Amino acid sequence: MSQINIVGAGLSGLSFAIKARLGGENVTLFDKSAPPIITSGLSSNVISINKRSARFLKSLGVFDRLEDSSRTNFQEIVVNDSDGIGRVKFSSKALQEDYLGFIIEADALRYAMLEIAKSLDIHIFWQYPFALDLLKCDLFVGADGPNSAARQALGMKTLQYPYAQSANVCIVEATRPIEGAAFQWFGKEGPLALLPLSQSGRYAVIWSSPQDFGMQPDDYFEKEINRRTRGDLGKLEVSTKRRCFPLQQKHALKYVVDGVALIGDSAHTIHPLAGQGGNLGLADAEVLADEISLSKIEGLGLPNKKILRRYQRKRRSEALMFGLTMEAFHRFYGSPNPGVQLVRSLGMNHVQENDHLKRIAMSIAAYGFF
Ligand SMILES: Cc1cc2nc3c(=O)[nH]c(=O)nc-3n(C[C@H](O)[C@H](O)[C@H](O)COP(=O)(O)OP(=O)(O)OC[C@H]3O[C@@H](n4cnc5c(N)ncnc54)[C@H](O)[C@@H]3O)c2cc1C
Repeated sequence: MSQINIVGAGLSGLSFAIKARLGGENVTLFDKSAPPIITSGLSSNVISINKRSARFLKSLGVFDRLEDSSRTNFQEIVVNDSDGIGRVKFSSKALQEDYLGFIIEADALRYAMLEIAKSLDIHIFWQYPFALDLLKCDLFVGADGPNSAARQALGMKTLQYPYAQSANVCIVEATRPIEGAAFQWFGKEGPLALLPLSQSGRYAVIWSSPQDFGMQPDDYFEKEINRRTRGDLGKLEVSTKRRCFPLQQKHALKYVVDGVALIGDSAHTIHPLAGQGGNLGLADAEVLADEISLSKIEGLGLPNKKILRRYQRKRRSEALMFGLTMEAFHRFYGSPNPGVQLVRSLGMNHVQENDHLKRIAMSIAAYGFF
């Protein structure tokens, strides 16, 4: 049994810890924050989970621990060009599936993972920030988020730049909701997403905007959302406080060094416009734990360069592909150039007419590139 130390008890660190423990490893988690307290009431901290992540979470037993009120599935995504006439509807029917993905309250998801970790006797040291002595183990896993102290202490370089946008997050209630559908509006005012919640008529809003809404009053923000969504879901009323996050793109050049692997946002942080960052982190966790299990069959112990390189090879290319795709979307849909806007609208309408292209896009969103 190998000793694995993990820094960061977020979604990536916890899911890896559970899978590695189920595979028979001795795992210990360290997190600089206090243990989370689950609060009742509406939470705008939601995450959209694709089919691959849902399958992984089900295999860990996490999914079944979620109450119905903290998760819902969706069957359709409607993508609109705010500055033009383009519109594409992606539907689970085209993939002959029941749904495209889930919207889950992130705190409830983390709480469910913590309960499973407890049941597996995984020890978590809270209020324990990264320190170099944590590296004394068979494998050290950095899962401490975008500003990873572990990555910095190990001198693992990144390619990074900030976006001139902040994500504004809150919950709205719509007077004309459309069941089972998520919505996106792209355009020069930044991508706006409305994700359906289990409470009928309510949506989580994620508006990645170049405008500084942080200083604006709530009624101004509400007026702007209603203008942008053009009444597609009736009138929208803001029902929670707004939260605001500056956005950045960041990629570690290497995910592994001797006896160390980075997973989740500590390895890659991408624009949330397609809701894929958390899905990438969960896939990292699954693949790294699978590689460790496979290594046992091959008779390789930890730490082993071959295992770590295999993990890096499998995960780095996909995260880069998503990072580049988000960048292309960000630039193409953010352009104020009328020529680009026309091509954009025509392109979207072409995709809308082409079931084959739609199936490819949906399959990547649901299961990843590889
Ligand atoms: C507005 C917004 C919307 C998003 N929507 C989606 C979505 O719909 N779908 C999706 O898949 N993704 C989405 N994402 C991305 C997703 O939230 C992240 O990719 C995911 O939460 C990253 O999880 P993580 O566990 O890797 O890192 P984190 O969640 O950042 O967890 C890191 C953990 O490490 C701990 N930590 C930090 N520093 C230290 C230290 N020095 N020592 C010890 N512990 C430390 C922290 O306390 C934390 O518990 C969104 C992101 C944003 C900003």
